[in-house]
Amino acid sequence: MVFYNQSAIRKGMVPKEIQREHIVQAMAQLDKVIDAANRKSRSRCLIHEGRHYPPRLVIAIASGFATGKRMHPSDFSGGSEANDFLIRLGFTIKNCRCGGKKR
Ligand SMILES: [Zn+2]
Repeated sequence: MVFYNQSAIRKGMVPKEIQREHIVQAMAQLDKVIDAANRKSRSRCLIHEGRHYPPRLVIAIASGFATGKRMHPSDFSGGSEANDFLIRLGFTIKNCRCGGKKR
């Protein structure tokens, strides 16, 4: 009996396949995308090399690099899961309301 389908990504779960390099790739991609700044991060920012990024959007893009299937930022539950995930990978999360726009 199959208890779970490993390829199925349940809502609210950050894919375990995402590694630090995928997050870095996602941020590099966001640097090139003009409308990235329109995605709001309401209270927290992922800070990398002095730049601010919306945590959930970064993870959503990183999921594409890690699993081949990009998630949507709204696929995650509250921000804490995304933020905790990034912190575990060694990234910095700060309270900030810039919406991931600060460069
Ligand atoms: Zn910010």
